[in-house]
Amino acid sequence: MAAGDSDSWDLDTLAVHADCREPFIGAVTEPIVLSTTFAQPEPGKPIRFEYGRSGNPTRAALEQALAALEGGRFGLAFASGSAATLNVLATLSPGDHVICGDDVYGGTFRLLEHAKRTQNIELTRLDLRDMQAVSVAFQDRTRLIWFETPTNPTLKVFDIRRLSELAAARGAISVVDNTFATPILQRPLVLGATAVVHSTTKYINGHSDVVGGAVITNDSELYEKLKWTQNALGAVPSPFDCYLTLRGIKTLPLRIRHSSRTAHELAALLEAHPKVDRVFYPGLASHSDHALAIQQMALPGAMISLQLQGGLDAARAFLMSLRLFTLAESLGAVESLAEHPASMTHASIPGPERQRLGITDGLVRLSVGLESQRDLWADLEQALH
Ligand SMILES: *Cc1c(COP(=O)(O)O)cnc(C)c1O
Repeated sequence: MAAGDSDSWDLDTLAVHADCREPFIGAVTEPIVLSTTFAQPEPGKPIRFEYGRSGNPTRAALEQALAALEGGRFGLAFASGSAATLNVLATLSPGDHVICGDDVYGGTFRLLEHAKRTQNIELTRLDLRDMQAVSVAFQDRTRLIWFETPTNPTLKVFDIRRLSELAAARGAISVVDNTFATPILQRPLVLGATAVVHSTTKYINGHSDVVGGAVITNDSELYEKLKWTQNALGAVPSPFDCYLTLRGIKTLPLRIRHSSRTAHELAALLEAHPKVDRVFYPGLASHSDHALAIQQMALPGAMISLQLQGGLDAARAFLMSLRLFTLAESLGAVESLAEHPASMTHASIPGPERQRLGITDGLVRLSVGLESQRDLWADLEQALH
């Protein structure tokens, strides 16, 4: 393929072709290169790769594909989403201040707290829908604003463009964890964010068989720092995991759009059900951030949270009655999953803080997969009953 072709491609085309065909033997799928070291024609003059931790052809293909999908120049793949987060936090200096969304992935919160204790980072957590509060939170030492949108598990939507503008005006970088939306539904870099982080474990790989992560950016200074930490910390993915993730990417646009449409229909049915108190889904008009969601996202996504009547007992009974939805942590795969945030994914958040975030004992989170809408609804309906 000629360089530059990909600039004009649609996301569906990029998903299939952005890894760029291997040029030597014409393999149509990316070869899995297991070699940990690469011959050098002259001492200290490698051809392209030298050592498997520093770089690998299969990983380079994945990094290129991820960068293209997010509309970024640089992609970096990691051994997990948490490793990607850790690498970004490792670029901070002692005394730096970080602003973070109040509703971030539990493991991200854990790493931020760790940075606070061990790297002397200052941390402010906020509901980032309150722009006034965000403006006030910025200090001279603010280096980074970090958020997810939609958030987990209450699916609040934050304004990527405005928050990125605010950060840039104050000399800080903005990092968006785009795991829930994927580049198919929203592209933060195009909206002005400095970098995107992914747990590729979720939608990007999409088949519940790889743990992985990534960072994508257009900022060459940040890229150079991350390239250094990627090699120095060494939390890199295996070539086989890179291959599987590349394979997942080929169908990402089809999977996320299909799941999102099914989720939208299910959310509307759940909202009308007498045993459901409240449904959190950005595609519903009843959602507090609906207007921003339809403006910022191509589709509202495939995650739904619902508040059942009857609290903890009702949530437990519901989850244990599901037959098609698997009771498990994680999300974003071909199979539908259900979980109980208060006792599973968000159990590490102290009780009062959970209450404040709306993570009540009756809250259930659904990740809608690729099964038929009819079968999924039949399962939800019998479990509600
Ligand atoms: C799962 C997840 C992570 C962490 O990724 P791992 O691959 O599990 O390390 C980070 N952010 C979000 C939004 C996630 O869902």
